[in-house]
Amino acid sequence: MNQIIAIDSDQVLVDFVSGWAHFASTVLGREIHSLNTAFPLHIRFGLTGSESNRVWTAFNCPEAWGNLPFYTGAAEAVRELLDNGYAVHVVTSVPTLALDARRQAFNRTFPGIVVHQAESLHTNHPNDAPSKETILKTLKPAFYADDRWPHIREAINAGVPHIYRISGAHDGDGKPVSGITVYESLEIALKVSGFL
Ligand SMILES: [Mg+2]
Repeated sequence: MNQIIAIDSDQVLVDFVSGWAHFASTVLGREIHSLNTAFPLHIRFGLTGSESNRVWTAFNCPEAWGNLPFYTGAAEAVRELLDNGYAVHVVTSVPTLALDARRQAFNRTFPGIVVHQAESLHTNHPNDAPSKETILKTLKPAFYADDRWPHIREAINAGVPHIYRISGAHDGDGKPVSGITVYESLEIALKVSGFL
């Protein structure tokens, strides 16, 4: 039986948006609230271009990327997978400056987890990493979950048998893929597909 489970990080295992929004409130000196389900954070939180730039400039450091909260249920699910003998691989499109911090944070919490850096889809911020499709083609996991439709398409192209979109409290960043079920959380997707 294939014992490899691959997952995205942000909005699947890591509550990136809550962490980022908390950080943004500190940088901007005011409360910010989600106004809609748009994927781009400046639109979702109603920030001006210059506010968004200030937040991202401050946020793009290892300390910020390495201290984001995990979703409790997803973290418990990953621990259970590891305890049950699955190899858990995180495939994450992080900037290179965040990669070590992210690896350390994940390995502290989930000893044995493997972190792969994948291509950033932001054309203004390339990171020269391989695409998620390339990584998944090599890994051949039994399961993959991501919150973004473009990455779901990559997983389909890579031939992953069980693919789910995790809602991530946003619109999915693009056109939905028919036939792919969206669940609120990683743990639900793992239970439904029989891996937990
Ligand atoms: Mg994500």
